[in-house]
Amino acid sequence: MKISDIEKGLNLAEIGDEMHRLIADLYPICRSITGNGVRETLAMLKTRIPLEVHEVPSGTRVFDWTVPKEWNITDAYIKNDEGERIVDFRKSNLHVVSYSVPVKARLRLNELKEHVFTLPEHPDWIPYRTSYYKENWGFCLSHSQWLGLKDGEYDVCIDSRFDEGHLSYGEYYLKGERPEEVLLSCHVCHPSLSNDNLSGIALVAFIAKYLSQLSLRYSYRFLFIPGTIGSITWLSLNEAHALRIKHGLVVAGVGDPGKSTYKKSRRGDAEIDKAAIRALRDSGSDYEIQEFSPYGYDERQFCSPGFNLPVGAFMRTPHGRYPEYHTSADNPSFVQPQSLADSFAKCLSVLNILENNRTYQNQNPKCEPQLGKRGLYRTIGGSKDVKLNELAMLWVLNLSDGNHTLLDIADRSGLEFGLIKDASDILLERGLLREDPG
Ligand SMILES: [Zn+2]
Repeated sequence: MKISDIEKGLNLAEIGDEMHRLIADLYPICRSITGNGVRETLAMLKTRIPLEVHEVPSGTRVFDWTVPKEWNITDAYIKNDEGERIVDFRKSNLHVVSYSVPVKARLRLNELKEHVFTLPEHPDWIPYRTSYYKENWGFCLSHSQWLGLKDGEYDVCIDSRFDEGHLSYGEYYLKGERPEEVLLSCHVCHPSLSNDNLSGIALVAFIAKYLSQLSLRYSYRFLFIPGTIGSITWLSLNEAHALRIKHGLVVAGVGDPGKSTYKKSRRGDAEIDKAAIRALRDSGSDYEIQEFSPYGYDERQFCSPGFNLPVGAFMRTPHGRYPEYHTSADNPSFVQPQSLADSFAKCLSVLNILENNRTYQNQNPKCEPQLGKRGLYRTIGGSKDVKLNELAMLWVLNLSDGNHTLLDIADRSGLEFGLIKDASDILLERGLLREDPG
């Protein structure tokens, strides 16, 4: 079976619910760029897809970077004079700045202030903060809680540790007919945040699971990696191999209620760019296309000039453009099963286009072949569908000169990719087309 065979029969409502359940299961885990939270997450994904977990030692040089020490945290709190935990890591892992150094101290409120982060514009939300590459510690609180703290002394404790450990990442390679690969990558380093990026993790895991049951033209590589340092590490360890990546998507923020967004690769006109834009256009729903910029997720590394891989970013509302972004309001109720299912369906249609995009040679290029005698042309005026199919056949015949892919023909004709593909199948069957060997 191929992607196109399963596309129509998918129970999207069920898929959206299942993806949402996975998000809710992964939500409580305290993840960071290294540490046991990532391992626990990968172990849960391993029950669904045959993920290989890689462990890269701290101190490993990866291009201009170094794999950091492994960070783990068991507890953290701020206690008031009565010994009550007024801020408790066990209630929300967002309370602690990720990669905080250990601390145990008694501080006055104005000393504590230096290490407290709040969001005055959303006084009930806890912000998400990190300090990966600079030694620091801190707490994140809702602004209203901070304003309610009385002057006095507080016991603060962050029970974290840094070890010469590992950076963990997950990889699943699915072999297709051809050695060229399609890459799907997502970041797994955020703690209790749902859209960014448990939604991306769920989408990549579900796509992997579905594709593993199908026969595929391309091989597929699925990466579950910590943001930035994870993609740099993977590229550094797989430098020669990266050339096999023919198309790629970085997947993040695919569960919010906003419309789908595709951010182009650095090349801007790669096949993945055309396929993603075509799939969103053909979906009939509203969408947004962004040009490449060297700001965002791991496409920054995949599209760095030394690699310049054809990798775009697949998302809904871009990061930073929704107020819940990087706050405690990005919880499981912020991500919608319908949005997750819609992102799943759209991602699948991008891949379906890639799988089916071919270049053909018209076998009868001197004037149009007579379609009527081959039973391909109506003799009596037909319905709109018949006309569209005929138009698609004429476009395919006209542009199949070895220089246009089916995707190019869809773009030039303004017809849906599915129509162009179906027309090419019929013409191929009747011997009017042959696949271009180039
Ligand atoms: Zn983020």
